[in-house]
Amino acid sequence: MSAFAAETFIKDHRLLPVQVPPTVIETLDAAEKAALVARIEHLLVERGAALVAHYYTSPELQELAEATGGYVSDSLDMARFGTECKASTLVVAGVRFMGETAKILNPEKRVLMPDLHAECSLDLGCPPEEFAAFCDQHPERTVVVYANTSAAVKARSDWVVTSGIALDLVRHLAERGEKLIWAPDRHLGAYVQRETGVDMLLWSGSCVVHEAFKADGLRKLRARHPDAKVLVHPESPLDVIAQADVVGSTTALVEAARTLPAKKFIVATDNALFHKMQQVAPDKIFLEAPTAGKGATCVSCAHCPWMAMNGLRNLAQVLETGANEILIDEAIRERAVQPIRRLLKFAEQRKQTVLGNNDA
Ligand code: SF4
Repeated sequence: MSAFAAETFIKDHRLLPVQVPPTVIETLDAAEKAALVARIEHLLVERGAALVAHYYTSPELQELAEATGGYVSDSLDMARFGTECKASTLVVAGVRFMGETAKILNPEKRVLMPDLHAECSLDLGCPPEEFAAFCDQHPERTVVVYANTSAAVKARSDWVVTSGIALDLVRHLAERGEKLIWAPDRHLGAYVQRETGVDMLLWSGSCVVHEAFKADGLRKLRARHPDAKVLVHPESPLDVIAQADVVGSTTALVEAARTLPAKKFIVATDNALFHKMQQVAPDKIFLEAPTAGKGATCVSCAHCPWMAMNGLRNLAQVLETGANEILIDEAIRERAVQPIRRLLKFAEQRKQTVLGNNDA
């Protein structure tokens, strides 16, 4: 299969081609898998390393992370875990911005990734120089960037945000009278703007996985399964979000799958999340929200091609060799850490407020 060139529009209407690789899932027979798992378990101990995996990685990686004292979660929680865990080496199974965030927050730790080519269309669609020039045209605006950005873009921002806390943070900034630049996801930005009414200038990037969900197909699937609840990640288009019973981050969607009384769910996010959903709700049924379909214009078919680059083979290899280390220029790191720390502090304060309200 050849690489697919999607296009990302940026604010000055230039076209920015984002090369999307084919999605290749690692295949292993049972003996090979067992041998690799045993080898990785041994190496994690020997190297004093912890495996931190995103929900969109394979079931094998998620299970291994959990079985070895590592962690599986969304990008905000992965960052939190990285700062709290004692391991001197973090192996981040996810995409590059997640490894960079771990390194930004933990400069004293060694951060390795199974594949340094595991990118993200949002990150690729927001080049630092062009973004800085855009921000310079609007110096009166507070710059809020999604976690799915490079260290250099974070370094140019005032706040880093994740989907789980975007609405709360934007409302908080608006209460202070701030107008915003939002980057890079135009769908999440449009959703936040619609929900909050805040003055936001949107960068025009997108996630190739979530952008592929189709509103018409979803309507038809809902008609065939009227008893199903619809769970949607807010990187999806607005006409897909409009059909959701729950809109939220990966963690929020897993929680909805666990707690809602429905037996059946239609889910618009990367289908690797079904593993965690099935773990927390084994008796429930999860259906993929429709995309354009394989062989049509869909470039991901509900699974991120970059997340799929993480496998047991390359994980074992980086633990063996120490290759694929994330290194960040110290001047950029020092600037990028500020908006991430602001996010973590804000998230912690929100958590305390919610806990306090629940106690009351
Ligand atoms: S699923 Fe989308 S947002 Fe997540 S890493 Fe892949 S391209 Fe980026």
